[in-house]
Amino acid sequence: MATESIRISHAEALDLLRDAESNVHSFDAHAASGSHEARFTSFGSPRSVEAQDAATSRSCNNTQRPIQCDVFIAGSGPIGCTYAREILEKCDPSFLRPRNAVYMAEIGAQESPIVGAHLKNAVKYQKDIDSFVHVIQGALQPVSVPLSDTHQSTLGGNSWTPPLNSKQNQLVICGQNPQQARGTNLGATAVTRAVGGMATHWTCACPTPHSEETNESPVDRNELDSLLVRARELVKVDSTVFDESIRHTIVKDILTDSFPNRNVRSIPLAVQRHAKSSSGFVTWSGSNTVLGETVNDPRFTLASEHRVTQLIVHPSFPGAVAGVLMRDLKTNSDYLVNARVYIIACGAVCTPQILYNSDIRPPSLGRYLTEQSMAFCQIVLSKKYIKSIENTTNPIWQNLIKQHRAKHPLDPLPIPFRDLDPQIMIPYSGAFPWHAQIHRDAFSYGDVGPRSDPRVVVDLRFFGKGDINSENRVDFSNTEPNKRPEHTDLYGMPQATFHVVRSDADRDRDQKMMNDMTTVANSLGGYLPGSEPQFMEPGLAMHITGTTRIGNDRNTSVANACSKVWGFSNLWVGGNNVIPDSTASNPTLTSMAYALKGAADVIQCLQC
Ligand SMILES: Cc1cc2nc3c(=O)[nH]c(=O)nc-3n(C[C@H](O)[C@H](O)[C@H](O)COP(=O)(O)OP(=O)(O)OC[C@H]3O[C@@H](n4cnc5c(N)ncnc54)[C@H](O)[C@@H]3O)c2cc1C
Repeated sequence: MATESIRISHAEALDLLRDAESNVHSFDAHAASGSHEARFTSFGSPRSVEAQDAATSRSCNNTQRPIQCDVFIAGSGPIGCTYAREILEKCDPSFLRPRNAVYMAEIGAQESPIVGAHLKNAVKYQKDIDSFVHVIQGALQPVSVPLSDTHQSTLGGNSWTPPLNSKQNQLVICGQNPQQARGTNLGATAVTRAVGGMATHWTCACPTPHSEETNESPVDRNELDSLLVRARELVKVDSTVFDESIRHTIVKDILTDSFPNRNVRSIPLAVQRHAKSSSGFVTWSGSNTVLGETVNDPRFTLASEHRVTQLIVHPSFPGAVAGVLMRDLKTNSDYLVNARVYIIACGAVCTPQILYNSDIRPPSLGRYLTEQSMAFCQIVLSKKYIKSIENTTNPIWQNLIKQHRAKHPLDPLPIPFRDLDPQIMIPYSGAFPWHAQIHRDAFSYGDVGPRSDPRVVVDLRFFGKGDINSENRVDFSNTEPNKRPEHTDLYGMPQATFHVVRSDADRDRDQKMMNDMTTVANSLGGYLPGSEPQFMEPGLAMHITGTTRIGNDRNTSVANACSKVWGFSNLWVGGNNVIPDSTASNPTLTSMAYALKGAADVIQCLQC
């Protein structure tokens, strides 16, 4: 069942705001006493479900009283967490209240004891990476599913079926989208609704964007480069963690020899060696890494399973957001939050969705959407490379292989079970304008199956850019301002519909990329049966950009270079959606860089 959508009218908003206005910018003793902390799950001090439920029911009598905070952040992914940490660390504390200074609302639940952590850190998945595929599949909720063909020719005679020759001859199952055309869909696009967002299961690749991938940026490249440095620190990027791995070294050497001019290198990954490096495990960075010690800051509050429904634009000052309407999904109670500053960082689809549902609809909202094409295959390494491991002259490897053989005399492979996976990339270049990952990792596809040893399998994922076109867009179920949407998604928000077509130039580039991938694959080995070269379902890259792009021209962008929404004094947006460029490289690091610039702007506003 969808959670029923709520939109409030101008008149209702006025009522709610009457209360709020008397409190704006004043310190709220109620919040300071900690009662809001009791109501909401707080980072760092998890409470039992019963305690939360009891606290929630106590506070429900108080729904009309707005929650007061300085900064309201929607979304707990890496971008929301970048804003939260940067503001709490860098803003002069005398401008912030001692409780609820930063209030974050997240529609998803907390899924691990460490709030927002990468789920792949569990030993289970480090021992068996393929079992993580199901975690990713379970986490991703598709955005736009066209109606299914419902005809079942073998259905028993008495069973119910939609009436033929009627307007009701299709199933309108909740979550399906009657307005979605299959040919223009990004069918694999999905949202992860969880504390930590997609960073609970991302691949952690953090390459630096090529200059051609930042052409459209309103931020000077030198400034962007220094923001990227800080972003790398926050998410703990390291390119050396896999360097001691036998397979990593072998694959890197093969590629470097075969493609000497392609700048083959280790993927810069958001990952650290496990404290006990001999365990062979690593710690993948998640939103918790980005948040760091902010998690324990008493000025920080997280409300999980709270849907941000609608921003309320001040009726007398259209350039100011006066409040945000939020629903506790566990109790279906609605709350008004009043802040000095609002940051919406809910991913590339849900960020414009919230703006749209708030009747904030600048002409570029949802437009200039780009998504990367993906070519994928898996290979089984050639025998000669396995032999070269067997005959290695490297004494460290010889020793590791000897130890492995002593423990596992029947294993036909000279590769220790704990040898880390290969993590290599061929970066974007002018001559080869795509990003290539030659590695082994879990996605929502590509598990190896029982007939091959995963230690000899290598995945090739090539990401292609798409031309920027204002007609490529996501729009939301048609509503006139102040009216309920005609169709809603599973969470009661206006249903997203994609209108995305790849240009002829995109298709040409995609074909060249596929050709390149097969050349690279053939240098390594033969195709794993079932994983031959293929283009993947559009949207699978999960790297949509542009839907609330930044820019210098308010006619072709939604926000300025600091990610502040045009025409608003207290509203910022964050996420890949702010990237104005066509990219092939993984975008999260760049989005974090833009969020750092946005956070500096927010701090300036708070300190005014
Ligand atoms: C399998 C996989 C692998 C990936 N690998 C990489 C990689 O290697 N490198 C890379 O750069 N990127 C990668 N990505 C993409 C990366 O995860 C995203 O770019 C990144 O998480 C975006 O961060 P974000 O905070 O903007 O959005 P998200 O991580 O999507 O977080 C947004 C949050 O907002 C919440 N939300 C949505 N709507 C509402 C609402 N109405 N109210 C309240 N909360 C709401 C969501 O629940 C979510 O938690 C990968 C993605 C996937 C799925």
